[in-house]
Amino acid sequence: FPEDLPGAARVTRADQAGGPEVFTTVETPLPEPGPGQVLVETRAAGVNFIETYQRSGVYPVEYPFVPGTEGAGTVIAQGDGTEGPQIGQRVTTTEAATGTYASHFLVDAAKAVTVPDDVSDEQAAALPLQGATAHYLINSTYRVAPGETVLTHAGAGGVGQILTQLLKAKGARVITTTSTSEKAEIAQAAGADYVLTYDTFADQVREITKGEGVSVVYDGVGKDTFTGSLESLGVRGTLVLFGGASGQVPPLDLQELNRRGGLFVTRPALHWYLRNAEERAWRFSELFKSLTDGDLTLNIGGTYPLSEAGRAHDDLEARRTTGKLLLTP
Ligand code: NDP
Repeated sequence: FPEDLPGAARVTRADQAGGPEVFTTVETPLPEPGPGQVLVETRAAGVNFIETYQRSGVYPVEYPFVPGTEGAGTVIAQGDGTEGPQIGQRVTTTEAATGTYASHFLVDAAKAVTVPDDVSDEQAAALPLQGATAHYLINSTYRVAPGETVLTHAGAGGVGQILTQLLKAKGARVITTTSTSEKAEIAQAAGADYVLTYDTFADQVREITKGEGVSVVYDGVGKDTFTGSLESLGVRGTLVLFGGASGQVPPLDLQELNRRGGLFVTRPALHWYLRNAEERAWRFSELFKSLTDGDLTLNIGGTYPLSEAGRAHDDLEARRTTGKLLLTP
């Protein structure tokens, strides 16, 4: 363990479930990397909707809880026998071993992705979780073909803007939803062909598709959109429910899928799609290429100091944000 390391780390943590006010920022001992791990000095950590479910208690966690699995920074120490990223190298990850709402975090070297020189620190922090999510949704959960018409919700959001751009790069036609006209403009700038409102989207999707419905819906909004998403699908269509920004979806009567045309429903999560080194390397090499080719631009909607993680959560939950939110130590 090198001796010129800082004496302490700072973390933002919750000691109980609750609102955004439960977060406090405190000093803690610098974490020591175990065998196979690296210690990363954080340049920026990504804020993701899942951390609001964990903070509020919708998803149970152990306390004290330091949120965050996504972060980018520089390797400053290695555990025994660690191969992979070297001290001084820039890395990014969606799979940190300790919370990334912190000045330093640990990650298994195998899960630390080396950042190419032409990718900035900000891009490196903003890309991985929402980028890898968009990548698996459209390439693995349901593989979208050129010319296909697709519905994705919350088109001005973090995942939403990346999904739209990657879908357009594939040659798909993208229909999305947003809650305000300002957000509609952002979704359009990301490339959406149609931006609808939440109240009438299912009827409008039928009109746009001349009564056929779409072959796939990517729904991260959940409770408020789920029924409309089913109504938007054509025969044998697939509903990919990947989140619940408006709340969790209640139990579903499977006969509903029969009545509506032999539909498919799946509820994926990123870790089921980053199962090994090959899968991780494939997704990240394609995402880095999309960035450097100009197919993908990352829109940073807000950068907050680590001590204001609660404000970031409040803004995210109140639908005030667009694009990616970052925390800087
Ligand atoms: P976003 O930036 O998309 O923020 C959420 C957006 O959802 C809001 O901006 C809002 O956009 C929309 N929304 C609709 N109804 C509500 C509501 N009642 N309360 C709050 N927001 C609402 O967040 P992320 O990009 O981080 O995440 C998007 C979704 O993807 C989340 O559900 C998240 O859990 C999920 N996710 C799932 C993953 C997986 O692997 N399964 C991985 C990553 C994210 P508008 O105002 O336009 O409606």
